[in-house]
Formats: sequence, structure tokens, C-alpha cells
Amino acid sequence: GKSYKERTSQQIHHPDGRPYDPRDLPLTRSALDGEVVTNVEAMVNLPDGSQREILINSGPIFDRNGNIAGAIAISQDIGPRKQIESQIRKNAARAEVLASLSQAFAEAGLYYAAVLSTITHQITEKIGDASIIRMISDDNKWLDVVAVHHPEHEALAQLRRVLRRRRLRVDEGLSGEALRTRRPLLIQDPSVSPNHELLYQEYNDWIKETEASSLLVIPLQAQGSLIGTLSVIRPRNGEHYDADDQIFFMSLADRAAMSIENAVLFADEARRARELDALHSATSALLSTLDLNELLSEILDAAQSAIAAAERGILHMVEPETGRLEIRATLNYKDPRIARISHPNGTDYPSVVVRNRKPLLIHDALTNPEAAQNLQSNQTGNFRSLIIAPLFYGDEVIGTLSLTAARPFAFTKEDLRLLVSFATTTSAAIQNAMLHAKVQTMAITDPLTEQYNRRGFFDLAQREMERFSRYHYPLAAIMLDIDRFKEVNDTFGHRAGDRVLRALAERINQNIRQVDILGRYGGEEFAILLPETELFKACEIAERIRSAVANQPIIESEQGPVKLSISVGVTRATKATTTLAELLEQADKALYMAKENGRNRVEIL
Ligand code: GH3
Ligand code: MG
Ligand code: MG
Repeated sequence: GKSYKERTSQQIHHPDGRPYDPRDLPLTRSALDGEVVTNVEAMVNLPDGSQREILINSGPIFDRNGNIAGAIAISQDIGPRKQIESQIRKNAARAEVLASLSQAFAEAGLYYAAVLSTITHQITEKIGDASIIRMISDDNKWLDVVAVHHPEHEALAQLRRVLRRRRLRVDEGLSGEALRTRRPLLIQDPSVSPNHELLYQEYNDWIKETEASSLLVIPLQAQGSLIGTLSVIRPRNGEHYDADDQIFFMSLADRAAMSIENAVLFADEARRARELDALHSATSALLSTLDLNELLSEILDAAQSAIAAAERGILHMVEPETGRLEIRATLNYKDPRIARISHPNGTDYPSVVVRNRKPLLIHDALTNPEAAQNLQSNQTGNFRSLIIAPLFYGDEVIGTLSLTAARPFAFTKEDLRLLVSFATTTSAAIQNAMLHAKVQTMAITDPLTEQYNRRGFFDLAQREMERFSRYHYPLAAIMLDIDRFKEVNDTFGHRAGDRVLRALAERINQNIRQVDILGRYGGEEFAILLPETELFKACEIAERIRSAVANQPIIESEQGPVKLSISVGVTRATKATTTLAELLEQADKALYMAKENGRNRVEIL
């Protein structure tokens, strides 16, 4: 009837709010057309003004003759089910967002900055929330903002200003609290939050001014250790975060932490590879430097190029006699006086390193307890950060390699580790150079003739002499001197004289055996020791040399060929000969005889 139509048209609506045409109602359709209508959703207005979602099923009623007698409709209150459904839909949507965010994080790659900005931007784009990522500093003291984003431009600018104003300590603010408890911290409604103090520490009045509606801080953990925090902020007029949101953001934070950690590890790895590369090329270049002082400077240069934070450097060496440390090379010190500073009391850092034989890392010299008595820091200018590695020669500490920086906490443990491996590698170069220096002072070669000098000849001849003393095999010695060499110099010049000496050495060499020892004994005097050689054989050799010199000009000079003769003395060792000096004296006497007897001849004694 009419009242039914009116009532239904007022009371029943489609779920989207459109009023139902009474003719379309399931009951009507069943009653008039005999239709069976199932599962039609509708909204019904209750007398108390509230609404309820209902599900209507209806069907016709037939009489005995098969005619429609009426219809029956059953309506069911589906409100609670609808709620669950919407919850499920919301959860599904969250899972979808989580999946797509995880995907985006993973796709951000391995570059730290890219990963961080992807995380904050994706949270804004997919969820509509603002976010802040803070990382714990290397020294575990600070929380540094590394990424921040907000959907509203003005609010973002303000937030950046607020965050930049002050560095947060790890135990400060909401983040500090979340880190301390290792639990998420939920501020459902900042305007009534009991954590106002903590909120203020982190944001001043920004939360209030921008009317943020909810806030959640989640600790970021990678492999069980805390690395920072993720704060998410729901902008004004948004729904407050609930328990499900908290679970959602915790999963999100886990994935974010994983991506960040991967990027950090990758950056470390890439940096390390770069450093090792620098280290390698630096040290291999060093190995070719034989001058010790030059090498020590190059070591400092190379150390600085391998460790980017280093600003200045000093290389100390232990003075072998006194055991005191001496500055042997400096890097980026303008004041040349630095090189003359000595360390009488040994309380400076390098002395400590030498004593302890261990590397040292000082994060902040100002707050270091030893700093007060540290002469070094006063004398070498201001530094706050310092790393020192000992230089070893075998088991012995021979010096230290120190790098400094003006700001505190410039160096990490990795930097120190790098410096130590650098010091280890360079000590090979240092040993090389030290050995070279030693060889230089004990040089045994005459640079002009490239034969043994007096010292070299003596060293080798001495060994032959010792063998002779034991076995008494035949041993002969020859001593020879250029005749009237002064005249050669006077006629042809000193430089021609030098060439003559070189040519003579070569001509002698051509006439002796490999085992014979030839040395430039004096200015134009040569000595030859002939092992396992009888006297008559030595005389033959002496005569061969003499004639080889006398028969052919020794060199061609600008003023024509230079003719030369030599006087030669030959002798042999006997049982009475006890020292090399005795043997050579004997040969010298024979040589004197050759000079006495008219030169250009061989005499035997
Ligand atoms: P003699 O031995 O036959 O008595 O006459 P001498 O002219 O060789 O006399 P003496 O041994 O006194 O002089 C050696 C000269 O050799 C003196 C010096 O000028 C020259 N002499 C020594 N060492 C060098 C050198 O390295 N280069 C050149 N050009 N001359 C040298
Ligand atoms: Mg001479
Ligand atoms: Mg002489």
C-alpha cells in the first residue's frame, strides 16, 4: 500500500545513498514478478536516526494453483561483517603498500643517499605521511638527520629549519627514548601527549604549529644492532595512528634498515677497495725510491692520499744512538721549525706508540686525559683528531707515522686499520732505502773504472788469502802502475786521462780470468790477485797485459792516439806470507823494481 511505499522510500537506500525506488525493492520484485532475489545490499534508516547496512534476500509465495500469493523478504544486519571486511581491505592495502615500498627500497640500489631519499619520498608518496631518518654517529654519541620529507612544502621547509638548529644526542628526545627501549614510540595525539617534553626536544613547537595529527618513532635495527630511527608523522587532519599502523611501520622500518645497512656496507666496501687501490699504487711507487729522506716524505703524501680525512702528517724515526724520536718528514706544516722539535720527556703520543708498540686513535685530543701533558699537541699546532701507526724494522719499532685533523672525530677505526697496513707495507720500502744507504757507505766499486775499489778489492782478496792460509794452494799477486801518467794528463787533459784509466781497466780485464780479482788500488795503480795460479803463469799473464797495453794505443783522443806503457810487479804467496798486506807489499816492491829498471817491464819478486 501507499504507506509501505512511503515508508520504504524514506527508510531504505542503496549503499551509495541513493533512495530506493520501491518498485526495485527485492520484496516488490518477488511479489509482482515472482523473482527470487538474493544478496542485495541496502542501507536502512532506524527510528533513532542511525543507519544500518542490511542484506536482503526475497522470494515469491505461491498458492496451491501456482499463482503468486505474496512474497517474503529476509533482511540481515551485516554491519559487523562490513567492519571486518573494511579492516581486511585496509590490511590488504597496507600489505600492498608495504610490498611496493620494499620493492622501491630495494630498487634504490646500493647508494646510501639514493636509498635514504627513496625511503622518505616513498613514504610520502604511497602513504601521505612525513618521515625523518636519523642515523647514530660513528662515535655512538649523536643522532644525525640524514633524510627528511613532508608532503607539504612549507611544513617541510620549517621542519628542516627545526632539525638543523641542533644536533640530537642519542639519549635525547623521542628518538632517544625509542632507542633506549628498543621499542616504537607512538604519540597518537600530540596535542594531548604526556611526552610533551620529549616532543619539544626534538621538534620545538613545529608539531603544534603544523597541527601534526599523529607521530610514531621506530628504532632502526640492522643485524640486531641499533643504527638509527625512523620517525613518521601524519600531517594535519589525518587519522591518528593505531596499533595496526604501528605494526605496519615496524615492518617498513625493518625493510628500510636493511636497505640502509646494505648501502652502508656497500659504501664501506667501495671505499675500502678505493683505499686499498691507493695504498697499493702508493706503496709500489715507494719501493723504487732509494733516498731515505725523499722516501719518508713520499710516505706521508701517500698516507694522506689514502686516508682522506688526514690534513697533516709527521713521520718520526727513532735515533739509533739515543733512542729519541726525531722528526724526519712533515706534511702540510708551513713552519719549518717543526723539523727541529725534539721530545725530551717522551710523554707525547708518538713516544707512547713506540713504547707500547701499538697503534693509537685519539678521537678528540681536547677531552683526552693525556692531552694536558702532551707537549706534541702544543708544539705542532692545533689538532683534535689523531691516528698513529708504529713503523717496524723486523721486530724493532723504528719510527711512527702520525696523521692529524683539526676537527674532532675525523678518523674512524677503519682509518687507523688502513694506516697500520700502510705502515706495514711502507716499512719494506724504508728497509730497502736504509739498506741502500748502508750499501752506499760500504761501497766497494770504483765509479770511474767500474772495478772494485781498494776496499772492495781488499774484502774479496782477504777471503782468498784466508783460503790460502788453510789449503796453501798457489796464489799470485800482480801490481801495476801507469808510466809517466802525469805527462798523459798534461798532454791530453785530465778527462782524456780518465778515459785512459777506464780503457786500461778493460784491457787488463780482457787478459785475466773470471776468478781473478782486479781492483783499482790507487790513482793509476791496479792490483790483481790470481787464485790457484803458479808464479810462472802469473808472469805470463803480467807480460800479456803489459804488451797488450804497450802494443796498441790505449785510446783515441782529440789530439790523436794515446800511447801508454805500464810497469808490472809479480809475486806469489809462500808459507812465510801471513797477511794480504804482506803479499801486496811484496808485489809493490817488484813494481818499484820495474820502475827502477826502466819502466814498461815486468819484474818478479
Ligand atoms: P811513474 O808512475 O811512471 O813514476 O810516473 P807517473 O806520472 O805515473 O807518476 P805518479 O805516480 O807520481 O803520478 C800519478 C799521476 O796520476 C798523478 C795524477 O795526476 C794521475 N792520476 C791519479 N789518479 C787519476 C785519475 O783518477 N784521473 C786522472 N786523469 N789522473 C789521475
Ligand atoms: Mg805512475
Ligand atoms: Mg803511481
